[in-house]
Amino acid sequence: GRRLLEVRGLTTRFDTPDGLVHAVNGVDFYVDRGEIVGVVGESGCGKSVTIRSILGLVRPPGRVVDGTAYFDGVDLLGLRGADLRRLRGKEIGFIAQNPFSALNPVMRIHRQFANIMAAHGVKSDGEARDRARAALADVGIAGPDRVLDGYAHQLSGGMAQRVVIAMAMLLNPAFVVADEPTTGLDLTVQRQILDLIRRLVREHGQSMLLVTHDLGVVAQYCDRVVVMYAGKVIEHGTVRQVLNDPRHPYTQALIRAIPRPGQPLVHLTGRLPDLVNYPAGCPFRARCPHAFEPCGHIVPDAVTMASGQTYWCHLRQEKEEVG
Ligand code: SF4
Ligand code: MG
Repeated sequence: GRRLLEVRGLTTRFDTPDGLVHAVNGVDFYVDRGEIVGVVGESGCGKSVTIRSILGLVRPPGRVVDGTAYFDGVDLLGLRGADLRRLRGKEIGFIAQNPFSALNPVMRIHRQFANIMAAHGVKSDGEARDRARAALADVGIAGPDRVLDGYAHQLSGGMAQRVVIAMAMLLNPAFVVADEPTTGLDLTVQRQILDLIRRLVREHGQSMLLVTHDLGVVAQYCDRVVVMYAGKVIEHGTVRQVLNDPRHPYTQALIRAIPRPGQPLVHLTGRLPDLVNYPAGCPFRARCPHAFEPCGHIVPDAVTMASGQTYWCHLRQEKEEVG
C-alpha cells in the first residue's frame, strides 16, 4: 500500500520527581511512501519524544504507555530491542539533532561505518571501506579517506552532520527520520544540509519525517505537515493546505510568527501548559484568542475536511465534516 508509517494513539510519559510528565498524548499521524512529512511545533511540544518513541529510543524514566506505530505492516512499539536495532539502520535511518552525540568520539570514522555494515552482513573491511567512501562522496565530502581515518572531534559541525547523514543513508533505508538536523549550524550550512538530505531522499525514493521548529523549513522542504502542541497533534495536512488555510488557532499563530521582510515580528504570547498537571479540555485554551465555553472542559475531536486536512478545535465552519 501507499502507507509506510501509521502512528495511532501514541502516548509517552516521564515519571519524574515533580510528577508524571504527559509528554506525548494520543498522537495520530501517518507517512505515505515517497513523502517528506514535517513535524513542527515549539520546543517542548513533544516532537522529539514522539519520534524517539517510534524508534524505541525513549529511556527510563520515559515510557511509551500506549499506541501503535505500524511500519510496513510491523508494529514498531511491539518490537524487542534487537529487532528494533536491526530495523534501524537497514529500514530506518536516523539523523539526530547533534551529530557529535551520534558519533563515537573515540572510534575512527571508518570503524563506525564498518560496524554498521558488519551488523548487516558486510564482513570484508575492503568492501566496507569502498562503500563508506561512496557514501561520503554522496554527501559531498571530497577527501573521504582523511575523514574515514580521523575522529569526530576533527570535523566541523556541518561535516559531522554530513557524516551522520552518510551513515543514516548507508544501507539505503526506505524511511529516514531527521530530528532538527541543522540545529547549531550557521544559516548557509543549514540550507546546504537540508538541500542535501532532500536530494538524497528524492533520489533514493525514500520517505522522511523531518522534525523542525521552523515553518519556513516545512514550507520549503516538506510535502505534508503535522503540527504539534503540548504533546498532541493539533492539525495536519498538505503543506499547501495548512500554510494557505490553517484551521487551528495555534497553527494560525505560528504562521503569523514567521518573520517576513518589512513586517514587524509577531511573537507567540503565553506559555505552554504544565505537562504534569495537564489541562482539561483544549490544551491551547490559555493562549487562544478564540476560546469559548466548551474549550475548558471538552477535548476537541478531530475535524477532517474533504481535502484530508484535519484539525482538533471546537470552532467549526459549515463546509467541514466531522469524522
Ligand atoms: Fe481555541 Fe477552543 Fe479551538 Fe482550543 S478548541 S484552539 S481553545 S477555540
Ligand atoms: Mg527536540
